[in-house]
Amino acid sequence: MNASTRTGFATQFESTQAHAAEAQPASDPASLHFELKCRQCGRRSPNAARSICEECFSPVEVAYDLDYVRRTFTRDNIAQRPTNLWRYAELLPVPHGYSSTLPVGFTPLVAARKLGKAVGLDHLYVKNDAVCFPTLSFKDRVVAMALAAAKRFGFSVVGCSSTGNLANAVAAQAAREGLEAWIFIPQDLEAAKVLNTRVYGANVVKIKGNYDQVNRLCSQIADQLPWGFVNVNLRPYYAEGSKTVGYEIAEQLGWCLPDNVVVPMAGGSLIGKIQKAFGELIELGLVEPKQVKFFGAQATGCSPISKAVKGGQEMFEPQKPSTIVRSLAIGNPADGFYAIRGIRESGGWAEDVSDIETVAAIRLLAETEGIFTETAGGVTTAVTRKLVEQGRIQAHETTVACITGNGLKTLDALASEAYDDVVIEPKLAAFEACLGERQAA
Ligand SMILES: *Cc1c(COP(=O)(O)O)cnc(C)c1O
Repeated sequence: MNASTRTGFATQFESTQAHAAEAQPASDPASLHFELKCRQCGRRSPNAARSICEECFSPVEVAYDLDYVRRTFTRDNIAQRPTNLWRYAELLPVPHGYSSTLPVGFTPLVAARKLGKAVGLDHLYVKNDAVCFPTLSFKDRVVAMALAAAKRFGFSVVGCSSTGNLANAVAAQAAREGLEAWIFIPQDLEAAKVLNTRVYGANVVKIKGNYDQVNRLCSQIADQLPWGFVNVNLRPYYAEGSKTVGYEIAEQLGWCLPDNVVVPMAGGSLIGKIQKAFGELIELGLVEPKQVKFFGAQATGCSPISKAVKGGQEMFEPQKPSTIVRSLAIGNPADGFYAIRGIRESGGWAEDVSDIETVAAIRLLAETEGIFTETAGGVTTAVTRKLVEQGRIQAHETTVACITGNGLKTLDALASEAYDDVVIEPKLAAFEACLGERQAA
């Protein structure tokens, strides 16, 4: 903690207010090749730490000057660049020539033959963000963009509301970038995710409430303090990081798009951004046009988006989460409306699975592909299987399942699984007896 955070909240507030005016320029230099655009009314506005349109109060997103992008964003140029997400810099909200020393992203796209066989697919791939650098979830991608924006806007303190993985990513990358971090989480998060936030020296605040209450509090704080909240006032920039999952899938398939993508949904941002990424690649001519079907995956205990898709509704009804899948436990998803619309327009679908199915699918992915995912990946795997059973995904199609987080962070989910480990004396005879028993079983 630095000197200012050791003082009380009120003092901190006053001392940072004065600083705020000079620390937050109203906009970036005009030379940037991107700006904000309202998703509803289309109004363009200069880059700023803001997630809502000043005109119609709808969410804003980042729009790019594609003519500018086209000049350097070619398959050949990209192939020469380092294998991390910065190879797609022209389509990310960073200035020309931006360099980061953090090699985030470019995770393996694994041909999952054994899992495919188990669920009935001939061409199944796993996009393995369980090994994303540096904190083992796809949230490293969004945080890389948010912190680049935070530094540009002059914030020295960053924060987030989180269901766990975002907390880890913000804490780690803020430590590296020399930013102070304030992390707000629901009180009941997995112990591994809490420790994996604290270890980086971040300020962790546990809230007696669910994620949606944590998020509301963060919005109020963001209105009061000159802090960059990665998923509140920096959300438009943050969300762009998720597009890199889409660019990587296309490049790793040899600049081709798959037929289907299965994506876990919490706030509903990732699924829409992979869709946006594919659309940009088509528009730039880097891939052949193709209608990719998007399938959303949720836990039944928190399934506002899948429920709306299945019920044919345009808008979801908020829910109170009750599931072991904490990373997806957002009952009032910020991008839920757009996720529903995107899924429907793509010709896809959404499904949800029970906690029991989730745990079984974590084991299935581990036993078939040697990939240990957290609960969200269990949801994605189980939903993929369900969609094949329903005939919504066909065996001959190319399908990518997005595995977004690492199983070592949610060991609690497997605590009730009965693994029959044996303990024996350090004697050959003891092992022979053990082997005999196993072979007989
Ligand atoms: C946050 C998260 C998601 C969902 O991301 P949204 O963009 O909020 O829908 C999926 N998987 C994991 C592991 C996450 O942490």
